[in-house]
Amino acid sequence: MHELALIPVFYGEAMNASVDSFSPSAAKPRAVVADWRERGEPIEVIAPTPVAVEDLKRTHDPAYVDGVLRGDLPNGFGTTDAGVAASLPFTCGAMWCAARAALRNGRVAVAPCSGFHHARHARAGGYCTFNGLIVAAQALRAAGDVARVGILDFDQHYGDGTDALIGRHGLDWIRHYTAGAEYGDPTQVEAFLARIPALVGAMRDCDVVLYQAGADPHIDDPLGGWMTTRDLAERDQRVFEAAATAGVPIAWNLAGGYQTPLRKVLDIHHNTLRACANVYLHGGARAAARSAAR
Ligand SMILES: [Zn+2]
Repeated sequence: MHELALIPVFYGEAMNASVDSFSPSAAKPRAVVADWRERGEPIEVIAPTPVAVEDLKRTHDPAYVDGVLRGDLPNGFGTTDAGVAASLPFTCGAMWCAARAALRNGRVAVAPCSGFHHARHARAGGYCTFNGLIVAAQALRAAGDVARVGILDFDQHYGDGTDALIGRHGLDWIRHYTAGAEYGDPTQVEAFLARIPALVGAMRDCDVVLYQAGADPHIDDPLGGWMTTRDLAERDQRVFEAAATAGVPIAWNLAGGYQTPLRKVLDIHHNTLRACANVYLHGGARAAARSAAR
């Protein structure tokens, strides 16, 4: 395990597309990274390697992959836009590169993108086209980089595409937890936050955990509605503390977030980065106190 001086962030312009959609996700990578740079956050921006078409076809129906990339079949935004298609190997690639970087540094890396967990074998849905979580996990496993992968999904919504792909391909080496299946009410916040160390701890036998740090559980989100900004920051702090304590590397992405103006969504993602830097660059006050007490 190396000491990190900066948080690795896998980002390139090719990850963005411009779409006229209720969802800001297609252009969110650029906005988020610009925000972090303007704020002078301790990040190292690294261009992602796109995944190969074969990597996409390991997870998805080959005809679906070809159809989307050619612009014959609709993407997760319901369009056949060539710009969206061109961005997809790079967003999936960012997730894959972040996972590999976290495996290498033993700690953390970031893929500042979205649009994965509703994508199924041969179908897009809910602003998701290809399931970059499963694509990355299967690419890692195919290369012999991992034996077991965790997917910790704290987006507002149930990761139905992820579950469907795990079932279809019999991926019993993936541990998947999706909070959207059982949480969504403000009365559940305290119990949810209290459970995070156990949820992360249950993935301690994974080589790497892919974490969906969704901004859409926010109480004001038009598609969400149960956690405050402070709750979400606490969520992320506890995830990173628990992963660091368990010694499990974690690669996180942005997942959903639909408030307007986008500033509100950027602020939530910024809090995730702050929690990440707090734990992995500065030791995290509480994590340090905890390990000192052992
Ligand atoms: Zn969502």
